[in-house]
Amino acid sequence: MSDTTTLTTADAEAFRERCREFLSEHAKPGARRDLEAARAFQAALAEAGLAGLTYDTEFGGAGLTLEHERIFRQVAQEFPAMTGELVISHGMCLPVLNEFGTDEQKRRYMPDNIAARTVWCQMFSEPGAGSDVASLQTRADRDGDEWVLNGQKVWTTLAHRSDYGVIVARTDPDQPKHAGISMFIVDLKAPGVEIRPIHQIDGGSHFNEVFFTDVRVPADNLLGEMNNGWRQATAMLMYERVAIGSMGSGAISQPMYDLLLGAAKATGRIDDPVVRDELMKVYAMETTKSLIAMRTRAELKAGKAPGPGGSLGKLYSSVISWRFREIAMEIAGAGSQAWEPGDALGQMMQSVVLNSFQAGIAGGTDEIQRNIIGDRVLGLPRDISVDTKMPFRDLKVGTQR
Ligand SMILES: Cc1cc2nc3c(=O)[nH]c(=O)nc-3n(C[C@H](O)[C@H](O)[C@H](O)COP(=O)(O)OP(=O)(O)OC[C@H]3O[C@@H](n4cnc5c(N)ncnc54)[C@H](O)[C@@H]3O)c2cc1C
Repeated sequence: MSDTTTLTTADAEAFRERCREFLSEHAKPGARRDLEAARAFQAALAEAGLAGLTYDTEFGGAGLTLEHERIFRQVAQEFPAMTGELVISHGMCLPVLNEFGTDEQKRRYMPDNIAARTVWCQMFSEPGAGSDVASLQTRADRDGDEWVLNGQKVWTTLAHRSDYGVIVARTDPDQPKHAGISMFIVDLKAPGVEIRPIHQIDGGSHFNEVFFTDVRVPADNLLGEMNNGWRQATAMLMYERVAIGSMGSGAISQPMYDLLLGAAKATGRIDDPVVRDELMKVYAMETTKSLIAMRTRAELKAGKAPGPGGSLGKLYSSVISWRFREIAMEIAGAGSQAWEPGDALGQMMQSVVLNSFQAGIAGGTDEIQRNIIGDRVLGLPRDISVDTKMPFRDLKVGTQR
């Protein structure tokens, strides 16, 4: 990332105006918000020299400062968010590429990622390895100039629309479970990759099962050091928690409250004192969440790598989603689960209510965030681990018996 120098007031204002001009033209209210729209927006952003603001120009970024990024985020708060579908590509895969990639890998992959000419996904979870990702069984075995991947990933968001995945696989089962893991860049169009979409409760199909059968991965697609994948995976999860927990964190905002307020007005429940009380709680919680996110951003701006504190924002997002669901059901009743054709409010509420369940699972469950906050932020005693010293192949995890 670029330096942390402070801009002059005039430069900051000029940049703010540049951002506002761009967003007025490209982030119009009512614009489509799917992946294709996100890609088109990102391409225009890159064309305007505003994509990947803090990444080096050599690797496709704009080479600007964290202060520029903060200004962009602040201005972007005034416009509809256009790139939600790229949060994994840009919030997780890109920083990991930047931190652990060789210069050659960065030159090869980052410019296309930044401009969304390619889409990337995160391939960690397996049927037997979710919260305990280090129990993963997908194997990568070296064969000449290539690695051979065999195994299965699950819940891989957007794999069916992605070009590349950042995957963790076991490269040495004789080492303890956290030690024999490596990270790779995998081409999802390679022979032997089979992607099966999973159907969701809201009718969508956003994530997938992905099967690897003798998939050949070039040796130079190893990302970072061999058998250092656990440390890198932990770094990626921290980027993930920051990305989820501090989304749109340029300023204080209350998007869930705004949605609920609109619904309460539309359904005539706005004068109900219980509803008003609940709305104020959401308002207060979202304000607090914005402040947590701003603190996280300030720490990043000061040059700190994302740490376990990112779990606070992530957990808080989940808590807000739970409360949102309760109040939405109170306000909209059955309309929060089903809607008549043409009932835009019902359709939107249903989508947000049904999707609220994922907030406490994706990116690490609430229980795991609480464990992290307990262990690593508050310094409480850790859970006793009984399986961290034994060779992975002797553990009874996943399908190993
Ligand atoms: C919408 C969505 C998108 C996702 N996208 C991706 C993706 O793109 N890439 C990817 O790799 N994965 C993805 N995931 C998977 C996600 O990371 C896992 O679902 C999550 O880490 C939990 O793992 P699990 O489902 O295997 O549950 P488990 O780990 O089996 O957990 C089951 C229950 O046990 C609890 N539990 C487990 N261990 C402990 C413990 N030590 N202490 C206390 N409680 C514990 C959990 O909190 C949970 O309640 C996604 C998930 C969702 C819902």
